[in-house]
Amino acid sequence: MKTRSFRAICVIALTGATAFAPNAWATTKAIRAGKIVAPDGKVLTNVVIVVDDDRITSIGPAAPPKDAEVIDLRNFTLIPGLIDLHTHMTYFWDGKPGTRPLGQPRRPAGVTTVLAAENARRTLETGVTTVRDLGAAAEIDLAMRDLINMGKMIGPRMFVAGQGIGAPRPDAAKPDYQQLAETRVATGSDWVKVYGSRGSFQSVDTTQTLTFEEMKAVVDAAHAKNRPVAIHSYGPSGVKDAVRAGADSIEHGIDLDDETIALMVKRGTVWVPTIDHNRYYVDAKDEFGFEPDTIPPLRDYIEKNLESTRRAFKAGVKIGMGSDAVYTMFGQNTRELGWFVKAGMTPAQALATATTIPATLLGHANELGALAPGYFADIVAVDGNPLEDVNVVIDRVVWVMKGGAVVVDRRASTPPDRRSAPKPSKPRTPSECSRWTIGSRSSWAPL
Ligand SMILES: [Zn+2]
Repeated sequence: MKTRSFRAICVIALTGATAFAPNAWATTKAIRAGKIVAPDGKVLTNVVIVVDDDRITSIGPAAPPKDAEVIDLRNFTLIPGLIDLHTHMTYFWDGKPGTRPLGQPRRPAGVTTVLAAENARRTLETGVTTVRDLGAAAEIDLAMRDLINMGKMIGPRMFVAGQGIGAPRPDAAKPDYQQLAETRVATGSDWVKVYGSRGSFQSVDTTQTLTFEEMKAVVDAAHAKNRPVAIHSYGPSGVKDAVRAGADSIEHGIDLDDETIALMVKRGTVWVPTIDHNRYYVDAKDEFGFEPDTIPPLRDYIEKNLESTRRAFKAGVKIGMGSDAVYTMFGQNTRELGWFVKAGMTPAQALATATTIPATLLGHANELGALAPGYFADIVAVDGNPLEDVNVVIDRVVWVMKGGAVVVDRRASTPPDRRSAPKPSKPRTPSECSRWTIGSRSSWAPL
């Protein structure tokens, strides 16, 4: 009881601070790290990371600055905050009996915005501190992005696409694709998302739905406004046309031919294969109510998806980690990394698909995806060696800082022999509350 009431006080205090100034709790923080994975892939031991406001200001062997708030992570390995290149944060389902994720009654956009905050928090718990959200209705993703940046919602920083551009219904007139892209940019999307083929949820239909010319009209219009483009294609012809049209990233895809792979290498196109999302649909088939005959094709798609990833990686294509998380997949955002190791990557190479490669794709290579001075203080502590076993990243995230604020802290629930600092015995001050209350699922405050 005592703990619960204390938590309530803490959350109120934090929310109060948030309401007036996002960085009201900002002080200099000094993180004592057991090990860190440096930008060159080397592991440094016993270093201190100094964080001022939302940025890393120094990393080195020096003692913590006087008056800094010291955070003891000496029993853990620190990696950069991870980047999930493909989410649908606004797809929310509360599991209410008698309902399924698909076909829920339509909710007002404001309601969905508040509900989707849970997806954002679950994403943070996986160590993902940045997402690219590729498709949402009613600009709810823009609202979440802005609320998170204002400090009014807890979640990863979001780069968003708004409503994706796709083919019209068969009976509708052909749209002006240039204008659709310009409207997207004018509305405030950071990215333009294009649906170049069928295929989603239990359907693995690879039929291409946009022509090369239509894709190119979108890409040219978006690039003219300095916005990058992500193109969805389940099938190989759509992937090839998307690469030729100049897409910055390709989402999904199987059976990529050698010519397409070579072109991706030449143009530097990032491929986000999203292998794990079909694993999720197989696992969640009962929740969704998928017919049994949809499952073998999903499994077949996974195999082909993995095989193309193996070939593309070997050929030198830049691969990015994207979960394609929807509904109850939030919290499983990084399981894609396991498939990447199966596809032939070392754990370090897999880690790059969620750090340096996406940071570059997002145009923020100088402030995201690495532990280095000047970068955002997006830091994840894992229990184990992530360069030996990628599952350490997937399953053993114990602590997460995003933009200098501690958003997840499970240190108290790690086994005693691995526990880092003892809990403070003195009463906690509001500035410590972010460390001790935001981390546990049960203490999330409704916003
Ligand atoms: Zn998607």
